[in-house]
Amino acid sequence: MDSYRFLAKLFGVRGSYPIAPPQGTRIGGNTTCLLTRTPEHIVIFDAGSGIINLGKELVPEILEHSKNNDSPFNITILFTHTHLDHLIGLPFFAPIYFPQVHLHLIGPASLGMPFEDIIRTQFLPQYFPVGMDELRSRKTFYNLTENTFVYFNPNDPLPQIERVNEAEPAFSTLKIYTMKYYFHPKDGSYPFRIEWNENKIVLATDVEQYVGGDQRLINFSKEANVLIHDAQYSEEQYKKFSGYGHSSIAMACDAAKQAQVKELLLFHHDPNNSDDYLREMEKEAQSMFTESKLATETWSLKL
Ligand SMILES: [Zn+2]
Ligand SMILES: [Zn+2]
Repeated sequence: MDSYRFLAKLFGVRGSYPIAPPQGTRIGGNTTCLLTRTPEHIVIFDAGSGIINLGKELVPEILEHSKNNDSPFNITILFTHTHLDHLIGLPFFAPIYFPQVHLHLIGPASLGMPFEDIIRTQFLPQYFPVGMDELRSRKTFYNLTENTFVYFNPNDPLPQIERVNEAEPAFSTLKIYTMKYYFHPKDGSYPFRIEWNENKIVLATDVEQYVGGDQRLINFSKEANVLIHDAQYSEEQYKKFSGYGHSSIAMACDAAKQAQVKELLLFHHDPNNSDDYLREMEKEAQSMFTESKLATETWSLKL
């Protein structure tokens, strides 16, 4: 990989389920997955089908790492929520099979079920041939709550998981803030704000804005460099699907405008929308917020 101090890269931009249309898609057919990293720390958001390609990219790095030292190769994965389109890639994420990998999995308990149990369910023999305890990587689970604050210190491979109200270390290199978004069925979702130096990226997927916008999310996204926002529906489609937990492009643009972000990426594309249809939606979005574009599987930001 080329040299960088901070890298963000999308591996999945689709919502609901992965698609592979006969005509192909240049925008991307995989469900949600965002990588953010420094040369030292790897933090992934969501394990939609996009995480499968990301896993393949990480394998050579894991092998190289274990050639040179005995310490574990740490990967942190945060989950916005546990709907299937955000989990479906995890059993096929190659690093989960490597004994030298230590995965730190951070996600919400939901409707009375601890986060670890939700993930374990996916690996029950009725669903998947390899059980959670047969996967050779080491796994540590954490329940994500509204005030969870995750940060990384230089020369320390482990994620630090604290409460946001506790003292913030001035020396951390990479910080992740979260909030709970209540308007996504049936137990909400968790937008994340990733900060590296003065740069901020907000991932707000599976959110449905409403008239006037959600001021909590707008404040959370204030002056972000990049806002990756749910925009599953065109205005026409939204009329049929209001209340399903996803935003229209106008809602995403309105949030971007109010939060005064530098760039908006329209995200969680509906699997029924063709590339051409999505490009039309993009044009419409640009008429509402100039710095809008479609999130694609080729998007990356290197600093
Ligand atoms: Zn989703
Ligand atoms: Zn969802």
